Amino acid sequence: MIEPILPGATLGVLGGGQLGRMFVHAAQRMGYETAVLDPDPASPAGLVAHHHVRTPYLDEQGLAQLMQRCAAITTEFENVPAAALRTIGAQRPVAPSADAVTICQHRVAEKAQFARCGVPCAPHAVIETLEQLASVDAKLLPGLLKTSRLGYDGKGQQRVAAHDELDAAWSALDRAPCVLEKLLPLKCELSVIVARNAAGECVHFPVQLNLHRGGILAVTEVPARGVGDKLQQQAIAAAEHIAQDMRYVGVMCVEFFVLDDGSLVANEMAPRPHNSGHYTIDACDVSQFELQVRTLAGLPLAAPRLHSPAVMLNLLGDLWLRKPALDSTPAWREVLALPGTHLHLYGKPSVRRGRKMGHLTVTAATVEHARAIALEAAALLGIEAF
Ligand code: ADP
Ligand code: MG
Repeated sequence: MIEPILPGATLGVLGGGQLGRMFVHAAQRMGYETAVLDPDPASPAGLVAHHHVRTPYLDEQGLAQLMQRCAAITTEFENVPAAALRTIGAQRPVAPSADAVTICQHRVAEKAQFARCGVPCAPHAVIETLEQLASVDAKLLPGLLKTSRLGYDGKGQQRVAAHDELDAAWSALDRAPCVLEKLLPLKCELSVIVARNAAGECVHFPVQLNLHRGGILAVTEVPARGVGDKLQQQAIAAAEHIAQDMRYVGVMCVEFFVLDDGSLVANEMAPRPHNSGHYTIDACDVSQFELQVRTLAGLPLAAPRLHSPAVMLNLLGDLWLRKPALDSTPAWREVLALPGTHLHLYGKPSVRRGRKMGHLTVTAATVEHARAIALEAAALLGIEAF
């Protein structure tokens, strides 16, 4: 038995975005001190943590300062250099491990991990040379060319309708190592979040139904309406199998596609809490961020229970930019007058289109009711109906 790290100790996080901020909130609620490493002086997590180390992720002094303060360290940001986790891992407990993050950071390694676990993924080809580009199988088109690393919110992707568009698409991605994926006919998108601790205990949240717009998550609904039990169990079993196989420690999310023929295909995975799990703060008895704290601290994992059906709306920068000449503050007052609305804003000082500024979770006695209220909130905020 490894001794758990108990409240009172300091927990650290690499990356200061909104996921780090919600980790910090969960850790603080449980009585931990917190430290964040992020170069941005106004990072959402840095603003709320006890300590903020403001250096680049690979800065030796920064990492040394973080290690000196913290009993254990996690990450909130998929693209944190795995090297930083490796450096820390030599001296402090780190979850997830550099090895696990390395797999999730690379689409080819990620797909190989799915295959190892017998989980189907989209037909694809690796594109790293002109020869590979020239010999693309016509069956993969139309397709999506995705950079193997550093993509998020649909960035680093190009649609390719036909063979003669491949060259321009790859050039638009600076000829970075890519995968070309067949464009699949999606009935819907799901995700499953699991948490696993070093003792091998593994728990999961209910299956989430996700709507993406322009490659960015827009809406999450739980329970997943219209998705059969068998498919849900299949998605949960796949996510748990992947986590167990990697001996993963921490919270991770697997994104799935349900195809028109009803089959389940894994899309990608994230080695951290996930945007589609933000509803767990308000709708579950244990949130994904509390489970991140527990996995990091070596505490027992409670199987989380959904106590209220929920619909989450992402609040993108676009909401602030709709009517520049008038008052651009979204209609919070009207939205908060609706029952069961929980507003989360991340404290980002500058607004950009497509930037995740916050989210709104609506909880209700039934998912239909949560949905009806979320639609009212969406109308007030200028979010397209779903
Ligand atoms: P990101 O890292 O930006 O989240 P994803 O690979 O998850 O990248 O792609 C973003 C979204 O684009 C997906 O959620 C899905 O809506 C759509 N998409 C991605 N790959 C495919 C595919 N092979 N077929 C159809 N749609 C896809
Ligand atoms: Mg994705």
